[in-house]
Amino acid sequence: MNDTTKRRIKRILVCEAIVIILTILACVVLVVLAVGKKEYITYDKVLTYLENGQIKEIQAYQDSNIVTVIMKDEGEKSAVISSLDELTSLVSEKIKNGSDIKFEIEDNTTIELTRAILILMIIGVVVWAISYAIIKVLSGIKAGIKNVINKEDDEIKPVKSKTTFNDIAGIDEEKEQVKEVVEFLIHPKMYEKMGARIPKGILLNGDPGTGKTLLAKAIAGEAKVPFIQKNGSSFEERLVGVGASRIRKLFEKAKEIAPCIIFIDELDSIAQKRYNSKSDNEQTLNQLLAEMDGFDSKDNIIVIAATNHIEVLDQAILRPGRFDRQIFVPRPDVKARESILKIHARNKKFANDVSLKGIAKKTVGFTGADLENILNEAAIYAVNQKRDCISISDIDEAIARVTIGLEKRNAAFTEEDRYLTAVHESGHACRPTAAQPVRR
Ligand code: ADP
Repeated sequence: MNDTTKRRIKRILVCEAIVIILTILACVVLVVLAVGKKEYITYDKVLTYLENGQIKEIQAYQDSNIVTVIMKDEGEKSAVISSLDELTSLVSEKIKNGSDIKFEIEDNTTIELTRAILILMIIGVVVWAISYAIIKVLSGIKAGIKNVINKEDDEIKPVKSKTTFNDIAGIDEEKEQVKEVVEFLIHPKMYEKMGARIPKGILLNGDPGTGKTLLAKAIAGEAKVPFIQKNGSSFEERLVGVGASRIRKLFEKAKEIAPCIIFIDELDSIAQKRYNSKSDNEQTLNQLLAEMDGFDSKDNIIVIAATNHIEVLDQAILRPGRFDRQIFVPRPDVKARESILKIHARNKKFANDVSLKGIAKKTVGFTGADLENILNEAAIYAVNQKRDCISISDIDEAIARVTIGLEKRNAAFTEEDRYLTAVHESGHACRPTAAQPVRR
């Protein structure tokens, strides 16, 4: 049950409780007012008052042994009598003897009827309130479950990607590897004729921010096909079977709008090794495998997934016919960083002291996303400093800010990682020649 359903049910129950409490309170108040008004006296007292001539009027009711006694001093009392016949004959005798006492026997059917109707109404209100609450709670639960299951309908929104390969820099080899997929999406017949089997799934593996999503979007943008993006975690749901149902709907939608690209980010959240994962995730993963086996290249759907934890993925996902093409997207080296900076510098104004090459050298281990972030932060800082272009001091400030963020994020960056990065970067160093001596 999701939070909205829980909140709705809570609200209904609170309203129902208020209705019931108010009804009971109203009844209690009515009874107290009706009973509390009158003082009860004994039958003997009635006879004494009668004897003393203190009574002005007696109101009796058919089939009831309760009478109302109105005193000459205007006080009103109630009394329980032992016999109406006996009281009637006593009062008649008094009247005969000249007493001015008024004696009335009323038909109490109307009172009885009113009382019965009132009781029935109270029971009716209470039963209605309880059953209304039960119906609402049950329909709330049903609607909640339906909402959860249908949520994916709203979330499957194919978009037109405007990203192209020109928006990506520094991962040329990886771009080359996916270019044939674009060709396939544009000219599927050509490949079919040749009997070529184009991969159904491409798995992009690399650290966050290295451009995996960008690459997937660029494939869709270049091939001009719709792009459906889903995050692996969006298939996770506490209700068993909902994740699998979402996968089914995702593929149904993809088949409807094919040719298209399905992009599943953070694949590891659903495709972990099965002994590792929760039972619902297992169902979701099985459904994903079944769907990938179920369509063929004629369907013109390419599933691209991204992960930064390839080691935890279930091997079944990597079999041929599923994510059989794996592309590692590395952190950019110094050259790649410079070309990524060039892309993100396109719409920014820089002072003469800024060299993108220099920034690239200072940003070892940074991803494309970090570099984009640095230029953005620098631009914000320059505006705050009331400068009309980005200077090197803005860049340094931005690097410092981003680095602090990175240090927090990469607290688990091991010595081994640092060593590998150092070895990788040293590969870009120039071999010393007579013209270019080693700088000490
Ligand atoms: P990932 O999917 O690997 O986490 P993204 O593709 O979402 O990373 O990258 C986030 C942002 O970082 C992109 O929108 C882009 O602005 C920038 N970026 C990352 N890699 C590159 C790259 N190789 N070239 C240009 N920009 C990049």
